[in-house]
Amino acid sequence: MNAALPLERLTFDPAHLHWVNRYARLGMPFAHRQPGHALPAPRWVATSDAAAADLGWPADWWQREGALAAFSAGTPWPGMETASTVYSGHQFGVWAGQLGDGRALLLGEVETPDGARELQLKGSGMTPYSRRADGRAVLRSSIREFLCSEAMHALGIPTTRALALTASDLPVRRERAETAAVVTRVAPSFLRFGHFEHFCHHVRDGDYTALRRLTDFVIDHHYPACRDVAQPVAALLTEVARRTAGMVADWQAVGFCHGVMNTDNLSILGLTIDYGPFGFLDGFDPMHICNHSDEQGRYAYARQPQVAYWNLHALAQALVPLIEGDTEQVTALLTEALSHYPDEFAHQLGQRMRAKLGLSTEQDGDQALVDDLMRLMARHQIDYTLTWRLLGDHRVGAVGALAPEPVRDLFLDADAFDAWTVRYDERLRAESSVDAERRARMHAVNPRYILRNHLAETAIRLAEAGDYSEVQRLHLVLSRPFDEQPEHAAYAELPPAWASSLEISCSS
Ligand code: AMP
Ligand code: MG
Repeated sequence: MNAALPLERLTFDPAHLHWVNRYARLGMPFAHRQPGHALPAPRWVATSDAAAADLGWPADWWQREGALAAFSAGTPWPGMETASTVYSGHQFGVWAGQLGDGRALLLGEVETPDGARELQLKGSGMTPYSRRADGRAVLRSSIREFLCSEAMHALGIPTTRALALTASDLPVRRERAETAAVVTRVAPSFLRFGHFEHFCHHVRDGDYTALRRLTDFVIDHHYPACRDVAQPVAALLTEVARRTAGMVADWQAVGFCHGVMNTDNLSILGLTIDYGPFGFLDGFDPMHICNHSDEQGRYAYARQPQVAYWNLHALAQALVPLIEGDTEQVTALLTEALSHYPDEFAHQLGQRMRAKLGLSTEQDGDQALVDDLMRLMARHQIDYTLTWRLLGDHRVGAVGALAPEPVRDLFLDADAFDAWTVRYDERLRAESSVDAERRARMHAVNPRYILRNHLAETAIRLAEAGDYSEVQRLHLVLSRPFDEQPEHAAYAELPPAWASSLEISCSS
């Protein structure tokens, strides 16, 4: 035996994991205990060593007895108690009624060195909440979810994780014939705003016991600091608003568009969840709509902060029955809790944008400097990621045609960019900014590698032909988004012409 093997690799035994399965054990009406529907003849597409390490599992966990079956919706490992959960939600601003885990299945909740984590399959077959759909997920969208979950985590953005991706030849009918896959997701909880909406709206005789139990569960297990205050429910809402503000600030700063910010797709923990028709900005367009099915642009990039606020109001509405007092008192309390969101969001975004500019101090006019650069980018749809990354290489004093820098070459209106750079230099001098130090700081927050649609598409096309190597390679490149990785420079380039014809819709 190899003496260099880490201890957990020697001792990891699926039969000895400690499963607690707290949400599943609440039973009905919260969680419907049921098995998955096994993918026939499954195979591994990819696994995430980083996600495994966070669970305290070794990188070769997937080679253990029964792993392939357990993670393709077949026979679970001992201790797993599989269940689907019910939720409702507002979709595109309209009350959609009961939804639920129509194609997801909780495997269980396992203890890890960082606390308990839920494992959930997506694409695991029909549940009582599948409505008229098949309970499956196609390989195409599962690859996108696997890659983006792990890429977002590597970018430092709160998200559900992806531990593994399995696939099969099982046919799945979407706009075209495709095949099935199962992603294993990991998070402290998969509860959404929509879970609260569900138990507010589905009540008999004004009995809100289930809503109360759900809220107590979330406070006790995920927001314990809210328990010991005068108004725990309002405190919970304040804290969810704060986390949501931080998450959306992260999205805006990195140029991420979620695509379907329905209330059933907003995590009660402020995690990015449900990667469907998401997209990263290429050329900067504030009104960019990444979801082809979103005809009105409700979820356009620039609208995300406002939509999150709208969703928080829907959550607040769902919590009303839990707060004692007359209408006026309840409204005042919840309004106060929500009122932190706009300031918190502005504060968080301001911090991130200053960091993107490499500024160490906060000064008047910083916001205008950011806004004006964004306006310049928007005018000619200059690549968002590349602009920020190359700006990190800027040297104070290098302005104009005599001292050309790569970032300047991106801008069609070089005069306008030069004028902006003069102001930027003034601002940098005002805090005695040192080029090399600022460069290191900026390169640690402005990624070189993001999951552009065309990169995912290339990996998908190969995978659909049976070659998973590009999924795995892209996963590794995106696990170090801030590193230069010169050997992978092609992954940092502008999208090719064919990328503009890619249409990403809700179909998944
Ligand atoms: P999504 O747009 O993926 O967030 O899904 C919205 C709702 O539709 C959720 O309740 C999903 O579980 C459900 N859903 C989406 N696709 C399927 C499917 N193929 N089979 C069953 N339910 C689905
Ligand atoms: Mg969803």
